[in-house]
Amino acid sequence: MGKKALYPGSFDPVTYGHINIIKRASKIFSEVTIAVIENPEKKPVFSREKRSKILKESCRNFSGIKVDTYDGLTVEYAKSISASVIIRGLRSVSDFEGEMQMAVMNKKMRKNLDTIFLMTDPEYAHISSSLVKEVAKYGGELSHFVPDASEAALQSKFHDENFDC
Ligand code: ADP
Repeated sequence: MGKKALYPGSFDPVTYGHINIIKRASKIFSEVTIAVIENPEKKPVFSREKRSKILKESCRNFSGIKVDTYDGLTVEYAKSISASVIIRGLRSVSDFEGEMQMAVMNKKMRKNLDTIFLMTDPEYAHISSSLVKEVAKYGGELSHFVPDASEAALQSKFHDENFDC
């Protein structure tokens, strides 16, 4: 049986940058679980349920992908789903510092769990969920940055008075 990987993140909402990492990871691992985490420091715009729903919709045509959520330590959750690898995406040197710290901490807590970094394909290096939300707020074109389900959710969040997250 092949290796299982865990791709954790806020995904508020999922962008084409994340999708690029998901597609590539799914070619390397037999199963990839994308897990939507809370991270209150980032003050998410969408509820975790909504973020999961958008992810499921955006990944419905990919095989070997699961979408889930967890609370608590990533290392514990990884163990519970028998994942031996954590996937993270890297866009720039500024991503690297925090990512390395987290990878080392996780390694200390569970030494048989490795973090594998996938470098973003250059055409996605500029995309982040936070910039996409800024663009959405001011009514900019989103279709180059996010899949349809994210675009629809952003439109209704910022331009529909009856929005329900
Ligand atoms: P977190 O709050 O965990 O950083 P994000 O949803 O912002 O969650 O990102 C999840 C993961 O996806 C991180 O590893 C991040 O570096 C990566 N990522 C985000 N945007 C991109 C992108 N445009 N290209 C490649 N990786 C990305």
